[in-house]
Amino acid sequence: MGCGRKHKMNFSEFGSRFSGSIGINELMDDLGAALSGDRSMRMLGGGNPAHIPAVQACFRERMAALLEDKGRFEDVVGNYDGPQGASRFIEALSDLLRRDTGWDIGPENIALTNGSQNSFFMLFNLFSGRFPGGQEKRILLPLSPEYIGYSHVGLTSDIFRAVLPKIAYPEDDLFKYHVDFERLSVSRDTGAMCISRPTNPSGNMVSDDEMQILRELADTSGIPLVVDSAYGMPFPNIVFEPARAVWDPGMVVCLSLSKFGLPGLRTGIVIAHPDIIRMVSRMTAVFSLAPGSMGAALTYELVRSGEIIRLSHDIIRPFYKAKAQRALAMLRTLLEGLPYAIHQPGGALFLWLWLKGLPVTSRDLYNRLKARGVLVVPGHHFCVGLDEYWKHGDECIRVTFAQDDTVVEEGIALIADEVRKIYAGG
Ligand code: PLP
Repeated sequence: MGCGRKHKMNFSEFGSRFSGSIGINELMDDLGAALSGDRSMRMLGGGNPAHIPAVQACFRERMAALLEDKGRFEDVVGNYDGPQGASRFIEALSDLLRRDTGWDIGPENIALTNGSQNSFFMLFNLFSGRFPGGQEKRILLPLSPEYIGYSHVGLTSDIFRAVLPKIAYPEDDLFKYHVDFERLSVSRDTGAMCISRPTNPSGNMVSDDEMQILRELADTSGIPLVVDSAYGMPFPNIVFEPARAVWDPGMVVCLSLSKFGLPGLRTGIVIAHPDIIRMVSRMTAVFSLAPGSMGAALTYELVRSGEIIRLSHDIIRPFYKAKAQRALAMLRTLLEGLPYAIHQPGGALFLWLWLKGLPVTSRDLYNRLKARGVLVVPGHHFCVGLDEYWKHGDECIRVTFAQDDTVVEEGIALIADEVRKIYAGG
């Protein structure tokens, strides 16, 4: 008995959306293969956070306490939470956010999900697609390039419209994207705006002033402004420039425990107007009954005490900042003389490298680097929502610096060597 099928499998139109090339799937495949198979592959591609010893020691301690606490562990793994997520975690988080950020929120403003990716699937399909009366709406991404994981989450195709950035040069070999407010217009078919801050892939920290203008624009247009704070404030706070964490009832802030160090526990947090929270909870009930309980249980005490903010500020942020600086210095040394520029590292886990006039596409470069034992993410994947081909996007790659220093160093040396060969016509 084999598992072969006599007939070709037929899938629905919904299914066919997942049968072509999907950037985030390639990225996660690479990540899984690098971790389970060929350990010699330098993983500078995926978004796995670093295993920071002090943070991991804290997780271990919290787990031991959970096991010690009689009946608590059994409750956590043996019961479903409600669809909004564990209420005592939500109450503790609401208190913490009121104290730490001054946001005027209560438990009715918070829902837990099975990871931010899951939050975006729900939110984008709430605010885009077909509306009563027949109008089709889209999600406006005010600053391209944007997170690879957004593409394909729409239940109808083509739900994004993105706006190209203005490019500034704070230093000769450093560039920075700014929102191009002259090009940005909120048309009647815009259902919401969304921006990641810090931005994946560029590590850009959209400034407080730009955020203020985006908030006003969203407000006057009567649409929500979604801020993807997977790397941002108030935790894990992988932010290297001064910035303010903002929320108001017209905004949806998406947080996650993944980059705090717990991607395996799949915990996303949505902070929004109660009407949106109710919808997210109902959708969670339909898609998954409830969010997983372990992330909330393991971090409850850290949230209640505020320790999650201290760890983010005192341990996680300086750890990644030092890694960003090392990776930047190394790229600058090894690429000297080539027509490159690096996006000013404002936060997150990666550097965004622009290889000007590169004679091959970013996909070709990705394949050549893979063959040499280093994984990166090619830039074209991040051109979500652009109507036309953008050469700049195809001249960039995302280089993650979260892994051990030797892996990052070997990876960067291979990237520089291959890039030099390509420019030399090899
Ligand atoms: N948003 C951004 C910008 C990300 O980089 C990621 C993951 O890499 C996510 C959302 C999804 O995170 P989660 O693990 O919470 O689903």
